[in-house]
Amino acid sequence: MSDGKKYIYAFEEGDGQNKMLLGGKGANLCEMTQIGLNVPPGFTITTEACLAYLEKNQLPDGLMDDIKVHMLALEQKTGKGFGSDKNPLLVSVRSGSAMSMPGMMDTILNLGLNPASLQGLIKQTANERFAWDAYRRFIQLFGEIALNISGEHFKERMQAIKRKHGAQLDVDLSAAHLQELANDFLSIVERHSGKPFPQDPYEQLEIAVGAVFRSWMGKRAVDYRKQFKITKELANGTAVNICTMVFGNMGNDSATGVGFTRNPGTGENVIYGEYLTNAQGEDVVAGIRTPRAIAEMEKEMPDIYRQLIVLHDRLESHYHEVQDFEFTIEKGTLYCLQTRNGKMNARAMVRSSVEMFHEGLISRERALLRVEPAVLEQLLVPQLSPSFHGKSLAQGLPASPGAASGKIVFDADTAEIRGRAGEKIILVREETRPEDIHGFFQAQGILTSRGGKTSHAAVVARGMGKPCVSGCEQIVINDLLRSAIIGDTTLHEGDIITIDGGTGHVYAGEVPTVEAEFSEEIATLLKWADDVARLKVMANADTPESAAKAREFGAMGIGLCRTERMFNGTDRLPIVQEMILAETPEQRQSALDRLLPIQRSDFKGIFKAMKGLPVTIRLLDPPMHEFLPTAAQLELEIAHLHQLKDTIDGLEELPDTLKLLNPKLYQQYADGLTKLMGGLTTFKASHLEDDVISKKEKILKKVRALAEVNPMLGHRGVRLGITYPEIYSMQIQAILEAAALCAREGIEIHPEIMVPQVATVEELTRIHSYVQRIHKIVELTHGINVRFKFGSMMEVVRACLRAGRMAETAEFFSFGTNDLTQATFSFSREDAENKFLPAYNETGILQDNPFEVLDIKGVGQLMKMAVDNGRKTRPELKVGICGEHGGHPGSIHFCHHIGLSYVSCSGPRVPIARLAAAQAKLLEEQYRTPS
Ligand code: PEP
Ligand code: MG
Repeated sequence: MSDGKKYIYAFEEGDGQNKMLLGGKGANLCEMTQIGLNVPPGFTITTEACLAYLEKNQLPDGLMDDIKVHMLALEQKTGKGFGSDKNPLLVSVRSGSAMSMPGMMDTILNLGLNPASLQGLIKQTANERFAWDAYRRFIQLFGEIALNISGEHFKERMQAIKRKHGAQLDVDLSAAHLQELANDFLSIVERHSGKPFPQDPYEQLEIAVGAVFRSWMGKRAVDYRKQFKITKELANGTAVNICTMVFGNMGNDSATGVGFTRNPGTGENVIYGEYLTNAQGEDVVAGIRTPRAIAEMEKEMPDIYRQLIVLHDRLESHYHEVQDFEFTIEKGTLYCLQTRNGKMNARAMVRSSVEMFHEGLISRERALLRVEPAVLEQLLVPQLSPSFHGKSLAQGLPASPGAASGKIVFDADTAEIRGRAGEKIILVREETRPEDIHGFFQAQGILTSRGGKTSHAAVVARGMGKPCVSGCEQIVINDLLRSAIIGDTTLHEGDIITIDGGTGHVYAGEVPTVEAEFSEEIATLLKWADDVARLKVMANADTPESAAKAREFGAMGIGLCRTERMFNGTDRLPIVQEMILAETPEQRQSALDRLLPIQRSDFKGIFKAMKGLPVTIRLLDPPMHEFLPTAAQLELEIAHLHQLKDTIDGLEELPDTLKLLNPKLYQQYADGLTKLMGGLTTFKASHLEDDVISKKEKILKKVRALAEVNPMLGHRGVRLGITYPEIYSMQIQAILEAAALCAREGIEIHPEIMVPQVATVEELTRIHSYVQRIHKIVELTHGINVRFKFGSMMEVVRACLRAGRMAETAEFFSFGTNDLTQATFSFSREDAENKFLPAYNETGILQDNPFEVLDIKGVGQLMKMAVDNGRKTRPELKVGICGEHGGHPGSIHFCHHIGLSYVSCSGPRVPIARLAAAQAKLLEEQYRTPS
């Protein structure tokens, strides 16, 4: 006892669960010792001793005496003597706090070496070279770590000795060379510390312990804690572990190695790892000899292999988790030096979860909790081959996961043609617009130089489950030359590139990819998840194809079908434009009459794909001008047309001028000229007549008229539905008729009609009245009952405030947290991400990107209030979320907590959401709303 406090625990007595006191490493060493694993004897000096040291800048009174008592115990346990010249006890000194902090302080090995114990080590190992090597390494490590002497001095000396003796590598140095080096190192220490190297082992220990304690406040450690937000509550001070050295280089019955209790790449239940006979751990790292796979040990050292199997079983049955361990075999005895939970890839995590449950090692709950939902993404989309380590050309935003290769194409039409012809295509654009949608269908992936993670390209690609890199600013596209400069490289249309939508990297050429596999183990794990979860998981899907795909991912319905995507198909866009440009209600109705059957068949396709499950269809949301070319584009086209017309007009005068100036020449070319003029006149008539130009001018006028100061807050959503009732009416009719037709065919359908951008109760009731009217007509004309639900998006702050009243009309709510976040913060995602969000995150004004991670403190409170008030009016109110956050695990926990009925996300995120929903249920007791 020192200061009346117990500062030291032998590995036999420390509480393996008390990581705050003993540090992670110390606690584990204690735990392993106490469950009977063969750990070299040792003890842990607590984090409390560290704090006491830091307070007074000296070791607590009596601590050295306690250390001596424990060293004596070590001597007894090992039969060795600290500083002995016959059978020396050497120890390692390692730091270890409650949280793993790599790089905080290195380990000092072989402490206790001095001229006398060195002789002992030589006798013990019968290896003079090894002993001198150990000594010079110890002096260097001690000098650098405990005495703060720059490593450069030691490195320089090493180089000089190597030069002097003509040695290429460290291993070429003999025992005599290493002895010379050790003596030089001793002088370096004396010169730079002003004192001789401490040769008393206890003095070495005292200095080393103090140095480890001080390292807690060293710059590296402080910066690390700041960076990874390691607060005092998580880790306060470092412990020091003093552990008997064991040697794997004491002959052919000795070895050292590292192992995993299961294969970390596949999850297979076999010991996986490497070992080296007659070697020290450092030899493995230095790559001097090639280690062997543990499987080979079965033949080479069968006895030890059997001990290793026992170790494997004991580790797993104790920790109930895959372990990553270090071992040393000294003269036929296996020692476990360290163990920790193994880090594995997604595939291995899933497989081991399912198998460990079947082996009775873990419960089903644990199997679900140990897999981080986000890692499932790796298994569900194609990835770059793990063996590929090439350099990328540029990096943009990882907008939609997955990897894809294909030929560069700069416009959607060419993408469609070449894609249909069977070529693999990457659509490369500055940014995409709704009219590019046909190009998306045929492309393997999308790459844009502008736009964030909610740009058109990003959202559409995610919905389709295609890889997308957006906002890759290092790309400069030259449409005229059909080329692009990507980073330092110029690429042309048809050149092959590869994009990785999971990292945002763009590579030249075709990079091999590995396909996604929805293995039996994932299916099992997710089935367990569905059994546990309370939240349902829906998909955001707009086509029968994406609906079918989402169903394969386990979607339990569609939570958001954005109908505007359907307006952009090549067969519909001209009709939609006709509808927008219509000058009379009759003209508009005629366009809508042609759109109706198309929409009806779209909905029928989706209902069929989602047979038996709910499908929430959102009425048109974006402003009209999104379906027309931009004003700038039209202005350019009109200017070009005028120019061309003027040129042709000038050419038309050519024959007359030529006739006057040179009748002979005219005669000579008269035939050709007449043909040319005929061709030009026909071209002009079909392409340049005034009505072609004036049509474009009319569109331009409309585009200008539709232009809005702030389109996101303008004439869109329900506001459009109220001012152009015929558009929503057509959509409602198409939904209900599709439902009626499906019902006729005996297909079980659960349609839901959802209104976007609602701010007032009156807006909702107005649209509801359309629905009721059309519903009656459809039921009468089709002679069949059509059941459906009617609900509101909650994406406007006012709607949340009026939720109680909204629920009088709405049978369900769906939080559109993309718009709701924008509205609550009063900033747009694109502007935030491109301009100030990084600074906000860096300076801690905002912890996360609120467009990715739900802002629970603000947006979340609006949601909670809306759910509570909505359910006061209508207790059975169904409530979901369909913004991006619906696929984010942390946000899903909050959605569970406030009682949502479902989350909806893009198809490929559905498995992630299913697992997160189960975890939310399993961890609900521990859930704390951030304050
Ligand atoms: C939302 O605002 O969260 C939403 C789902 O709608 P959109 O992204 O289509 O605006
Ligand atoms: Mg929205």
